[in-house]
Amino acid sequence: MTTDPYAPLEIRRPQDGAPMGMVPVDRPEGVFQAVSRVREVQVGWASLPPTDRARRLSGVRREVERRSEEIADRIAGETGKPESEALTEVAVVLGLFRYLEDIAPGLLSPRSVSTRWLFPRRAWVEREPWGVIGIISPWNYPFVLTMEPVITALFGGNGVVLKPSEFTPFSGAVIPDLVEAGGLPEDLVRVVQGRGPTGAALVESGVDRIHFTGSPATGRKILAAAAPRLLPVSLELGGKDPALVLEDANLERAARGIVFGSFFNAGQTCVATERVYVVDAVHDAFVRRVVELTRELRAGPVGSIDIGPMTVPFQLELVEAHLADAREKGAEILCGGERIDPASNVLTPAVVTEVTSEMKLISEETFGPVLPVVRVRDEEEAVERANAQSFGLFASVWTGDAERGVRVARRLRAGGVSINDTLAHWSVAGLPMGGVGESGFSRVHGEEGLRDFTRARAILVNKGRRSRDPWWYPYTPFTRRIVRALIRWDGRDGIRRLTGALGGLFRRGP
Ligand code: NAD
Repeated sequence: MTTDPYAPLEIRRPQDGAPMGMVPVDRPEGVFQAVSRVREVQVGWASLPPTDRARRLSGVRREVERRSEEIADRIAGETGKPESEALTEVAVVLGLFRYLEDIAPGLLSPRSVSTRWLFPRRAWVEREPWGVIGIISPWNYPFVLTMEPVITALFGGNGVVLKPSEFTPFSGAVIPDLVEAGGLPEDLVRVVQGRGPTGAALVESGVDRIHFTGSPATGRKILAAAAPRLLPVSLELGGKDPALVLEDANLERAARGIVFGSFFNAGQTCVATERVYVVDAVHDAFVRRVVELTRELRAGPVGSIDIGPMTVPFQLELVEAHLADAREKGAEILCGGERIDPASNVLTPAVVTEVTSEMKLISEETFGPVLPVVRVRDEEEAVERANAQSFGLFASVWTGDAERGVRVARRLRAGGVSINDTLAHWSVAGLPMGGVGESGFSRVHGEEGLRDFTRARAILVNKGRRSRDPWWYPYTPFTRRIVRALIRWDGRDGIRRLTGALGGLFRRGP
């Protein structure tokens, strides 16, 4: 294994380790050049009205639609995930495209603001692009987690330099091509390839904002590197999402939903269910059903499978280490947790009980096909345990009473919660996604996501006919009376109070 951080990437198929190709790595000079080139092109893109940008981006959307199978093949090829899961990445991107086409022109148009007592002036807020955004992405959803920030940045008028994960370079590599083929200017989006040092160079390159999706450890490094230059950073980090199964839940739906939410993409999902708290009264029935359903899943390298190989060997080893730690500390592995053969990265999906907070399965992100179940007394204990974690990305509550579910949801420390559902929130492009605590603090999707990719510029217009305003220099007793009048009139309660306050101007007072 090479120690040169700029040696070409050697990509191997997760199914069998067969070589897929070599990818040259960009050194810092190459990254800086890419940023300068995108900056030149971005100026013209930013000058277009939001409506025109949205119209032109619909061309890119059509290109993604047209090439959806080819894109899914790339995703499945380098990650090993089943074809339907690869296509889901494309579907989620298209959902966000359509949502942004609908909302971007309105959200990015100037919004007028009352000047309250400062008439006759006009004021409004405009949204302007940051400039060039550096996007750094992980390997678990190599297309959706790269393309979504790219298109959101473009709707906002930005240019982009993106760096895909060193383990999945091919899905990101196609993005500039999709953008250009869809009718946008050449070099508005550029890709640089490489490992951590290439990502670090992007942070140092003079970009105007960094959008990072990945682990909390790397998120911390990026935030520290960004601090000296006060570079704004968005962080979308890991998760350890809890599911709370209450005694009145539809157990069949809860079992099926949680099995799906835990094992989708072999558990390599930031919003995967990684901890299940089940109320004592239904614990045994729930576990029985979950084990039955898990045993039915077909895990394998290729073909008609539900669960494919894990994308990178080191992640498989980490999951095995978590299982070993749990076993040593007294957990019971009811099924799964075994490699199907030495060549492929396939781990059979595991259900684990007798799990405690001291085990890594609860205290750390596992990011693999493991479903740990914890027995709790009641709703209260479920909430308490769910919140006793530094991550706070997403959560789910399973109950026959939706209103109760919402009440519980509001007590959970998480960026979002679904009731009797799992992963569906990701396809609702209007719902912001992001976390609290160790899961980061920014948002993608929703109006909030688009706002994050632009900044507010405030404009105030005074026609300038008067030569001075009465509160400008020189200060006089009259100035003081004006300020006192403003203290009395807060601007919200109408003309009667205003005239009362103005009346005070001509009375003698302190
Ligand atoms: P990672 O942090 O190891 O790497 C992510 C990216 O950062 C890669 O492109 C990598 O090359 C780059 N990088 C590494 N060091 C860098 C540095 N010093 N400066 C700049 N860039 C650097 O994460 P990963 O293993 O690729 O992804 C898995 C993690 O991502 C998990 O924790 C998962 O939960 C998280 N994730 C979060 C979300 C979300 O939306 N919140 C989504 C998917 C994955």
